[in-house]
Amino acid sequence: MSAAPRPARSALTIRFALALKTDAPAVDSPTTNVLHDRAIAAYLGLAIGDALGATVEFLTPREIVEQHGEHRDIVGGGWLRLRKGRVTDDTEMSLALGRSILSSGGVNAIAAAQAFSDWMRTKPVDIGNTVRRGISHFRQTGVAEVPLHEYDAGNGACMRTLPIALYTLGADLATITAAHCTQAHVTHHNLVSDAGTLAVIQMVQIGLRGGTQADLQVIAEALVAADERYRFDRRRMENPGGYIVETLRAVFQALFATDDFETALIDVVNRGGDADTTGAILGMIAGAFYGLDAIPKRWLTALDKDTAGACREQALALIDAAPYLD
Ligand SMILES: [Mg+2]
Repeated sequence: MSAAPRPARSALTIRFALALKTDAPAVDSPTTNVLHDRAIAAYLGLAIGDALGATVEFLTPREIVEQHGEHRDIVGGGWLRLRKGRVTDDTEMSLALGRSILSSGGVNAIAAAQAFSDWMRTKPVDIGNTVRRGISHFRQTGVAEVPLHEYDAGNGACMRTLPIALYTLGADLATITAAHCTQAHVTHHNLVSDAGTLAVIQMVQIGLRGGTQADLQVIAEALVAADERYRFDRRRMENPGGYIVETLRAVFQALFATDDFETALIDVVNRGGDADTTGAILGMIAGAFYGLDAIPKRWLTALDKDTAGACREQALALIDAAPYLD
């Protein structure tokens, strides 16, 4: 197949942006301390969701009940046989992306691709097929963008998007969209993934700025208005796969059915399936939204110390480097 002409912006992303612009919720400007607290909570939320969910990844809800009852503690194990507190590619790729932003002074496709390639060289405990293919494409061609691909609608670009949400806080939607596309298209160049990931970025940013759950719902509904496949008000999403639509349906259902960090995260990982990634995505949104005090101490203590330190440090560094904050 010959290379498809590269669209400047995906139609879906634009439709989503328009739907959002109409209803953009007004949110306040938190103090630097509050922003730091919420940014750290988003990053630790991502890592905790990853570590908690990895234990039950690929299990069905029924298998989880049989093996764990309700799964509510970070214990390691799972199909990856993880050490307790250990995270997977969701957190590791986020940290790699964040490092590339900080060291190159912005969201830069080559720097991000190089960081992902360096990470792949560390023989990660887990790596998605689309991610591996994208990194190999970069190694072979030097091009840090894969061609537009209808079927690459996995959740691999979304799971690592937190550094974009932190660094572009305060930017207009066109700037945020461009930064998102730069990092996402290193491995995932897909309209459905773009729209969903952009919604997640917006939700994290609303959380960071102290928005309400109704504000988060505006974003989810704008996404549904842009693409009906994202409807999440029908059947309960159990056993979500790596398809971004299934992932975000599970995340939105859990987020909007609960009113605290712990209950939301337990809800989403006990749905099984791609539970480390639903946990990671819900964890970053809910962490930003509920703040650090809402994260259970037992989860903070259980998380691998080096990972927790790297998440805290990078959350602060990205907020402090964010060029669009007033
Ligand atoms: Mg993972």
